[in-house]
Amino acid sequence: MLGGADLKKELRVDPTNNDIIIFARERASRPLDNVKKNMPMEEDDIIKEYEENCPFCRGNEHQTDDATEEIVVDGQWVAKSIKNKYPIVDMSSDEVFGVHEVIIESYRHNANFFNMSEEEFKIMFELYVNRYKYLIGQRGIEYVNLFKNFLRKSGASLMHPHAQITALSIIPPEIHKELLVAHDYYGWENTNLYEDIIKDEKEYKERLVYSGTRFIAIIPSASKNPTEVRIIFNKGVKFENLDSLDIDELSYAFKGIFANYKKMFGIMPFNIWVHAHPNGIETKEYFNLHIHIFPRKFNYGGFELSTNMYVSSYPPEEIAKQMRIEE
Ligand SMILES: [Zn+2]
Ligand SMILES: [Zn+2]
Repeated sequence: MLGGADLKKELRVDPTNNDIIIFARERASRPLDNVKKNMPMEEDDIIKEYEENCPFCRGNEHQTDDATEEIVVDGQWVAKSIKNKYPIVDMSSDEVFGVHEVIIESYRHNANFFNMSEEEFKIMFELYVNRYKYLIGQRGIEYVNLFKNFLRKSGASLMHPHAQITALSIIPPEIHKELLVAHDYYGWENTNLYEDIIKDEKEYKERLVYSGTRFIAIIPSASKNPTEVRIIFNKGVKFENLDSLDIDELSYAFKGIFANYKKMFGIMPFNIWVHAHPNGIETKEYFNLHIHIFPRKFNYGGFELSTNMYVSSYPPEEIAKQMRIEE
């Protein structure tokens, strides 16, 4: 049809990275209800607490290198980190070098973010922060990248709950882009982009999933993934300095977020990554620590891959309503 604005279509930009999202709301007549729940687990072995052939299970320590760090409860490790056996980076090259570790988030083979207790999350975050702190302090390291894949569809190759952490001699392009966008905003507006987002979202409330003392969790106004939850920390908070109160609150929020995801989608593949401050350059004034929680429920098609524009049919306010955590 020629002419006439179609009010159902709207263009939005993710202010943190300039991703372009086309909202096509009438496509939501394919309701979420049609795709939610009863997604079968991809792996049967995930139901056992111990798996003989799993190198990450407690009791199978001889199958991997020694731990770089362990959290011990009652004389036994409950979470630990080890060197990655197949590292993306190591110290063998000058072009890009670094360290690649695996964080084994639980001794339980069948633990996952949908069934972990708040206490288990706390142990996990404590180890995340410890390893981050250690690696960001290493010589020549510009950036430490912490990420997690869950289930095959998200890129995970082993089922045992784990995250990965890479210390890199370069700042990755995605961080570089976010830093530039935030720096430009700071130059033009003379304020911090993330602080403005926090202020706006707290006022608006409709996209808030959780509001804590040091961070908020939101469904972003525009994201290449309509079901993304983004956790944005207050200005000046650095990942390596997260304290036990931050960890308590994060654990509470994660437990609630994943309980709500489970209600909406069942147990599903997802990725998580932390976007933190790089070493060496002062970015705290204009760039805030944040975490992307990125379900892999939907996949991208040819439109997204060919245009780098993303289509969403779900208003963030509706997703937020289902994801909101009681405080
Ligand atoms: Zn295992
Ligand atoms: Zn980010």
